Amino acid sequence: MTGPLMTGERLDALARAGLVWHPTGEAALRGPLLRLADDCDRAFVRLASGWEAQEERHPATLPAELLQRVDYLRSFPHQATFAVAMDGDEANLEAFLSGPVLTGSGAVAPAALAPVRDVLTPAACYHLYRAHEGESLDRPLHLTTRNTCFRREHEYVPLRRLRSFSMREVVCLGTRAETAAFLAALRERVERFCELVGLPVEWANATDPFFRPQRNPKALLQRIAPVKHEAVYGDLAIGSTNDHHDRFGEGFGIDRDGAPAHSACVAFGIERWLFALTDRHGTDPAGWPALPDAAAEAADAAGGRP
Ligand code: ATP
Ligand code: ZN
Ligand code: MG
Repeated sequence: MTGPLMTGERLDALARAGLVWHPTGEAALRGPLLRLADDCDRAFVRLASGWEAQEERHPATLPAELLQRVDYLRSFPHQATFAVAMDGDEANLEAFLSGPVLTGSGAVAPAALAPVRDVLTPAACYHLYRAHEGESLDRPLHLTTRNTCFRREHEYVPLRRLRSFSMREVVCLGTRAETAAFLAALRERVERFCELVGLPVEWANATDPFFRPQRNPKALLQRIAPVKHEAVYGDLAIGSTNDHHDRFGEGFGIDRDGAPAHSACVAFGIERWLFALTDRHGTDPAGWPALPDAAAEAADAAGGRP
């Protein structure tokens, strides 16, 4: 298993399989790796078969005001990235155009900005709580979505740590018992799936990367009562299970059984699966396992319908 850095040889092999790497932290995919990414995504959805998780597709941004209901900006200011626009005032735009437009370092030349109100999606599932705001659930609600997620990180490493990456999530909103049962059952399926596709994965307690954790009561709470577990390949988290308690139910007014709904999500970082699968099985597609079939088998083996 390789460490965090990648040799030129490894990168060349990935390039031949379809990785286009931009050192600014973005990965484009084509050819075999793109097909593998699509297969991963199909497999993750198939792992959730039986819950009838409704698929939703959401935009790239979220209003900061909505994220702030769950204290996002105070918890993760170091990771947040924003969609910004110039102030549309004609004089402002004229002044911008009369300048160099770009600075010598390639940054956009200073101009007055319109108020910043939108955050680029940090995790795919946030959109779902907003979309179901104010609902009273008479049974548990299962949803799935996928989005491009944006994170500011200290460094960017091909397929492992990206500025924008693809996240598939499966979410359950319900009572505490319903979300707990969902997490346990889906985790069992993920374990079985990893065995079937030959990926050695371990589970570890994790904490979200809060800004200044020593000063943040939420970070302390996560350490006392772990709510996040990561599926780790080598030293890389390729997925996580997250128990939000009733934080989103309360923040978005979603009720179940007369009380704020509990929620839980299972998140898969698709590019990291590409890293793990090619690390384990090589970059020649002939050596890759049949992912959607393995997912169907894992879902059946772990008890069929939940
Ligand atoms: P890490 O501890 O590695 O930074 P995280 O705790 O920030 O991960 P989550 O917020 O749980 O990650 O996001 C869900 C999944 O998205 C992760 O398990 C991982 O597979 C993937 N992921 C997170 N950050 C990145 C990134 N910068 N580039 C690529 N994939 C990522
Ligand atoms: Zn989530
Ligand atoms: Mg992180």
